[in-house]
Amino acid sequence: MSDGALADEAGALDAADPLRAKRAEFALDDDTVYLDGNSLGALPRAVAGRLADVVEREWGRLRIRSWAESGWWTAPERVGDRVGRLVGAGPGQVVVGDSTSVNVFKAVVAAVRMAGEGRDEVLVDAATFPTDGYLAGSAARMTGCRVRVVEAAAMAAAAGPRTAVAVANHVDYRTGRLHDLPGTTAAVRAAGARVVWDLCHSAGALPVGLDAHGVDLAVGCTYKYLNGGPGAPAYLYVRRELQPRFDSPLPGWNSHADPFGMSSAYAPAEGAARGRVGTPDILSLLALDAALDVWDGVPLPAVRAKSLALTDFFLRCVGAYVPEGTVEPLTPAAHAERGSQVSLRCAAGAGEAMAELIRRGVTGDFRRPDVLRFGFAPLYTTFTETERAARVLGEVLAGPL
Ligand SMILES: *Cc1c(COP(=O)(O)O)cnc(C)c1O
Repeated sequence: MSDGALADEAGALDAADPLRAKRAEFALDDDTVYLDGNSLGALPRAVAGRLADVVEREWGRLRIRSWAESGWWTAPERVGDRVGRLVGAGPGQVVVGDSTSVNVFKAVVAAVRMAGEGRDEVLVDAATFPTDGYLAGSAARMTGCRVRVVEAAAMAAAAGPRTAVAVANHVDYRTGRLHDLPGTTAAVRAAGARVVWDLCHSAGALPVGLDAHGVDLAVGCTYKYLNGGPGAPAYLYVRRELQPRFDSPLPGWNSHADPFGMSSAYAPAEGAARGRVGTPDILSLLALDAALDVWDGVPLPAVRAKSLALTDFFLRCVGAYVPEGTVEPLTPAAHAERGSQVSLRCAAGAGEAMAELIRRGVTGDFRRPDVLRFGFAPLYTTFTETERAARVLGEVLAGPL
């Protein structure tokens, strides 16, 4: 079934790829194809050595001194600024810590507390990653609000005088659809409310432009396209002008203006540190810090251009190799509506097809009941692998399952 022309084209696209040298910075082999970086990013090679130093020298020898001398105490804000560059946030607005789930909770409650009188409605993206919906629901109950479920694309029109906050996923984790962050942000703000954007599937895959688009609040994880490692801490963005009004529902001692004053009275820190809770998990945080080195000097427009070229090429290869009628793309064809993954609905035997694909060396993932997901990480996915993945998928779907 191999189409030599597509394989040749893949080779030419790799040769012309301005990001091609980046792949060598990751612990990947050429025997298998890894298209699950939208669930767990690949390991940047530099992480192991850096973590060994953190463990052996900073923890093992300096011990308690490392909170100051190795910069542990301020790492959540320092690493936050590094993540900030990748989501278009100027310094001092992003803090790293906790999980995305916990940060959704902080952001939603804080947004409701900032909302004016009579605003008691929380809009939730109908297709949201479930955790955001669970936490927004709990936050709403705790603050006397009610939840209204709306499609992300309809949020701009749905926000009204009762709306306190809208919770939206920038990229739909299931379909790979990219939502209109600038337009939705502007419309919801014009209605007097705020949006909490979940950037889990966009940070590291495409430019986000938080400051440029006047976003108020955002959260995201770092273990997908940012390659921070399993369970790497998440981040919280609070726009600078809002920080003085950010009243955290989890005001732990790390977010105190004077944490070592050990006062019984709470006084919030200024700036991004206000989003902290308790002691940061330093090993994960510094693994992330090391993982972020692969982004140094990488222009985000080049990342987006390659991401779109990879997903375009994959869709073409699927069209050429996969038997007619076995799969149907769920990911929009329009670039303006596409994140960095391709989701294919596979009517019959999707779970078995993905298991067989993985046995044949191509790792994507399966989302019940019938979705095959393929994530394209622009720093390390090649066009050659993309062609191979589609070709093997075609072979799997042509065979008996
Ligand atoms: C991956 C993902 C999460 C994960 O939340 P955790 O608290 O980090 O487990 C949340 N939201 C979205 C949109 C995701 O894609």
